[in-house]
Amino acid sequence: LVVLDNVNKHFGALHVLQDIDLTIAKGEVVVVIGPSGSGKSTLCRTINRLETIDSGSITVDGKPLPAEGRQLAKLRADVGMVFQSFNLFAHKTVLENVTLGQIKVRRTPKAEAEKRARELLDRVGVGNQADKYPAQLSGGQQQRVAIARALAMGPKVMLFDEPTSALDPEMINEVLEVMQQLASEGMTMVVVTHEMGFARSAANRVVFMADGRIVEEATPDQFFSNPRSDRAKDFLSKIL
Ligand code: ATP
Ligand code: MG
Repeated sequence: LVVLDNVNKHFGALHVLQDIDLTIAKGEVVVVIGPSGSGKSTLCRTINRLETIDSGSITVDGKPLPAEGRQLAKLRADVGMVFQSFNLFAHKTVLENVTLGQIKVRRTPKAEAEKRARELLDRVGVGNQADKYPAQLSGGQQQRVAIARALAMGPKVMLFDEPTSALDPEMINEVLEVMQQLASEGMTMVVVTHEMGFARSAANRVVFMADGRIVEEATPDQFFSNPRSDRAKDFLSKIL
């Protein structure tokens, strides 16, 4: 569904993505881990063209990423993204946050968009918050709204970039549970996270990055019990 072929990207002198080859199959859950600065966020951001690449190719559903305009908006609807910092529209209600993209990008009629939004808000457990503004919600609730907003677009794949890193500990699980549920329903997901419990239970594959390269790819079992590279061993010894 998502194919990165020999992708390279620089930020000035920094070679932030180096010869990245990665194929994500439909229904697969890929967890990306690695030290700070290894390029995990940049990798995610290239998949919905929040960052451009210098060489190589990326396709979603067999099609190269569009550069601009309406096709780019559609790509970002097909490739949902959830950020560490929620990124909800502060001056829109929860309901409006979840209907806006449906109406503007998918051209869904308003009534239908609202129906779908309420169903999704219910599904992520914040159905009773629809008329509030983001600032009136807890971090965990805001992040679940952000997930509902992405899902409302009917994405083919969901990217999560450290979705629980900004949350208080007691709110992490409510977000992970929603993600776990999505994974078990067959959503294709790329998840950057330090939540190793989630990686173990939800991931089909762990991708370990260091210095802009994919150093190791393995099943969670293989990766956590028997990492092959020194970089991965070193990383795991610090976090486990
Ligand atoms: P973290 O675990 O801290 O989130 P990461 O693996 O997500 O790290 P990236 O955010 O992808 O890492 O950043 C990789 C490198 O690229 C870092 O050295 C970072 O400083 C640099 N970088 C990221 N974005 C930019 C940018 N817009 N301009 C210049 N350098 C950048
Ligand atoms: Mg990051």
